[in-house]
Amino acid sequence: MSAETHPTERLADLLDERLTGDERRLVEAHVRECPTCQEALVALSAARKALGRLPHPPMPADLEARVLRQIDQADAEGRRDPAGTPVPVTTPEGPFVESPRG
Ligand SMILES: [Zn+2]
Repeated sequence: MSAETHPTERLADLLDERLTGDERRLVEAHVRECPTCQEALVALSAARKALGRLPHPPMPADLEARVLRQIDQADAEGRRDPAGTPVPVTTPEGPFVESPRG
C-alpha cells in the first residue's frame, strides 16, 4: 500500500456507496491508516450534510436556461398560465377553457 497515493476521488464514491466490495475494502483500509484521507472524508461528509446529502453533483450551468425555455414553450402552448386565469386551449374536439383549479 502506497501512502503517497490517496484515493481522493474514491472518497466521494465511498460516501455515496458506489464502490464495489473490493474497491470499498481498499479505500476503507487506506482511510483507516491515513489521517489525510480521514480528514478529507470528514470534510466531504460535512459538505454533503450541508448540501442536504444530494446524491448527484451540482446541476449543470445551463439547466436553469433549459427549464426556463421549457416553461416558455409550455406558456406558448397554453399549458401553463402564470396569472392563474383560465386559458383557452384548442384541442381536436374544439376549444375549451381550463379550470383554474385544474
Ligand atoms: Zn490517504
